[in-house]
Amino acid sequence: MSANRQQTAQIHTENVHFSHIFTPLDLGFTTLKNRMVMGSMHTGLEDRFFNYGKLAHYFAERAKGGVAMIITGGIAPNKQGWLTPLGGTLNQLTDVINHKRLTKAVHKHDCKLVLQILHSGRYGYHPFVVSSSAIKSPISLFKPRKMSHKNILATVQDFAHTAKLAKLAGYDGVEIMGSEGYLLNQFLSQHTNKRTDQWGGSLENRMRFPLAVVNAVREAVGKNFIITFRLSLMDLVPNGNTFDEIVCIAKALEKAGVNIINTGIGWHEARVPTIVTSVPRAGFAHLTGEIKKHVNIPVMAANRINMPDTAEQLLVNNTADLVQMARPFLADPNWVNKAKSGQTHLINTCIACNQACLDHIFVNKRASCLVNPQACYETELVYKPVKKAKNIAVIGAGMAGLSASSVLAKRGHQVTIFEAQDKIGGQFNYAKVIHGKEEFFETIRYFDNLLQTLNVTVKLNHKVTKEFLQNEKFDDVIIATGVIPRSLKIQGADLPNVISYAELLSGEKTAGQTVAVIGAGGIGFDVSEFLTATDDRTFIIQNLQQNQIPTPQPLDEWQAQWGVDNRSNYDSFGGLTTAKKITPARKVYLMQRKKDRLGTGLNKTSGWVHRTALKQHGVIEMSDVQYEKITSEGIWLRTNNGQSQLLRVDTVVVCAGQESVNDLMPKLTDNLDQLTAQYHVIGGAKFAGELDAKRAIREGAELGAQL
Ligand code: FAD
Ligand code: NAP
Ligand code: SF4
Repeated sequence: MSANRQQTAQIHTENVHFSHIFTPLDLGFTTLKNRMVMGSMHTGLEDRFFNYGKLAHYFAERAKGGVAMIITGGIAPNKQGWLTPLGGTLNQLTDVINHKRLTKAVHKHDCKLVLQILHSGRYGYHPFVVSSSAIKSPISLFKPRKMSHKNILATVQDFAHTAKLAKLAGYDGVEIMGSEGYLLNQFLSQHTNKRTDQWGGSLENRMRFPLAVVNAVREAVGKNFIITFRLSLMDLVPNGNTFDEIVCIAKALEKAGVNIINTGIGWHEARVPTIVTSVPRAGFAHLTGEIKKHVNIPVMAANRINMPDTAEQLLVNNTADLVQMARPFLADPNWVNKAKSGQTHLINTCIACNQACLDHIFVNKRASCLVNPQACYETELVYKPVKKAKNIAVIGAGMAGLSASSVLAKRGHQVTIFEAQDKIGGQFNYAKVIHGKEEFFETIRYFDNLLQTLNVTVKLNHKVTKEFLQNEKFDDVIIATGVIPRSLKIQGADLPNVISYAELLSGEKTAGQTVAVIGAGGIGFDVSEFLTATDDRTFIIQNLQQNQIPTPQPLDEWQAQWGVDNRSNYDSFGGLTTAKKITPARKVYLMQRKKDRLGTGLNKTSGWVHRTALKQHGVIEMSDVQYEKITSEGIWLRTNNGQSQLLRVDTVVVCAGQESVNDLMPKLTDNLDQLTAQYHVIGGAKFAGELDAKRAIREGAELGAQL
């Protein structure tokens, strides 16, 4: 019986909640205690050795949280392979001391630590970049030098040398990064490999370098050391490999002594989203299932898996032997233990926003997490138990108020949160109904359950007034009353055909067939997607309960929209096909006063997805416009040619930013002597400009940690 089939046959049911997740995996010389692996995720801490203490704490938290194996962020085998100048290394004996801090911290919690060796190739952001051919990538300023034969052989040895040092540092294995468009992937694919020597041309030649790396690493580390190889199962770039070619590579890797095939999807330069929130959960896992049929070593599924039922299902269906997640462990280090003890409802789910993790890394900032600001700040943002509990009122159950309440209660304070609406969540209740943002509901669900567990008193339908606060005896009052949509100050702004995004997204009002969206910030983009999506939700959301979300886009529709080949055994190059033409539900004009291209202020790693989605839905973008007045016929605009013109639309939806709601904050003109409580203000109530949930949650947590 093959190793792979044995693994399936041995599955037993010890854990009552997720029996497959909690079945150990025997690799022959070592055993993983369960099927959950924390995948490689660059945090920025690995780049500077003076941060290795913080990195050790960050890993230790996740190891303590029950995960079986952690793969570190990518460490370059040599200078040419750096992602950024002076990136993290493990190239000499002195580096071993720093890495030992990590392995020691993780091993204390019965967890394995694997070092990822990543050579960036042409994705490096420095002048020493090299690649299979001298072709610049669209996402780096630096044109690579074509590697010489000698350079390739030396690099093979550099990989082996780093692996040897990893063993010395106490790592349980290494992962060789061969996907996402990094150096080894650049050799594997004809998208970048245009060589005519023994390292290019046929598939046999293209895989010579990655296989040489695996062989050299195996020779350097001996038999009983884990080697995983991250293999791109779908390149999503022109001229990328076909699935048959990928099967050949997988078989060759197995033969060369790889223990686990980890799966990667899409190059970083691909114009198909692979991990943002609008990608359906486990949307690429079927490819892992397909590769599993062809090899006898364990395979690991990845990409947009964030909850235990999804992971369990992949194991039950025999789609994968292991499940890898990276960002979900930033969001909740205790994910595995919570799943094990039946506390799935208390998992702080990664909403795949990228806002505090990848978006930070792309601007050389330390990663963290929007829903968990402690991530990568474990030693700095500490929630210490309080010596003397205080009676604290939090006004507003948006992200800021929820975050503050939960941290305060966790530390031992007595907390009451007041909310004017009949549900918690604030602005996130609008976000969760946007197509592709259904995950935002999970954050509301998490806080809802957490507040109950922490015995926070939640008073819904309770609009707090100044008088109320004066009559109550609180030690501290936290104003987290958030924001309201800014209204337009032009003639006709009060007509019935003018509605705010809040009125639209709460289902209070609906839009006609032709719509002008005023304001092209994040909300203007979201609203335009909402209005044009083929699955028109305008009426569905009117009847949504607090704990309900609209059905997310089915996988086959998503694949058709983005031109992703839906056949598991695809023969299209890189898995790309022609995208389906979309018939939008409405005609939408999205406009702003600024002269810039629309959407330039959107987030780095997800903004392009929103911009592309609007193009796919035929949204007409207008910049450099002045709004003159609104009539029942539409909106009068002055465009850059200086002429006034009527744009005939049925509805005008205003997404022109927000204003703070902070009227409960004491003013200098109030009788301050009468105030017995200390007042604090956080989130949108403090400052509406550039407000997002990342800031709201972080401010709530930071205040919660201080009081
Ligand atoms: P709010 O969410 O406004 O919460 C304030 C709460 O206080 C409300 O529930 C309100 O009812 C309550 N309140 C007000 N006055 C009183 C009173 N007197 N008594 C009792 N209760 C009161 N951010 C991101 O980071 N990423 C995104 O992708 C994203 N997408 C978005 C999409 C949409 C469609 C929208 C509308 C927003 C989005 N945001 C996003 C923004 C994000 O939701 C907000 O910035 C953030 O949630 C603000 O949190 P807050 O707690 O400060 O305020
Ligand atoms: P925003 O990004 O500040 O955009 C406001 C838009 O309104 C701008 O396009 C602005 O453009 C326009 N505007 C401002 N004042 C106006 C006025 N008086 N009259 C007419 N137009 C006016 O804010 P937002 O879209 O409201 O989003 C709020 C926050 O939520 C943002 O900070 C954002 O980070 C967050 N959010 C994030 C996402 C995401 O995907 N990450 C999604 C949604 C929201 P002009 O001044 O050029 O007209
Ligand atoms: Fe997930 Fe967003 Fe946190 Fe990144 S910042 S880990 S994507 S929730």
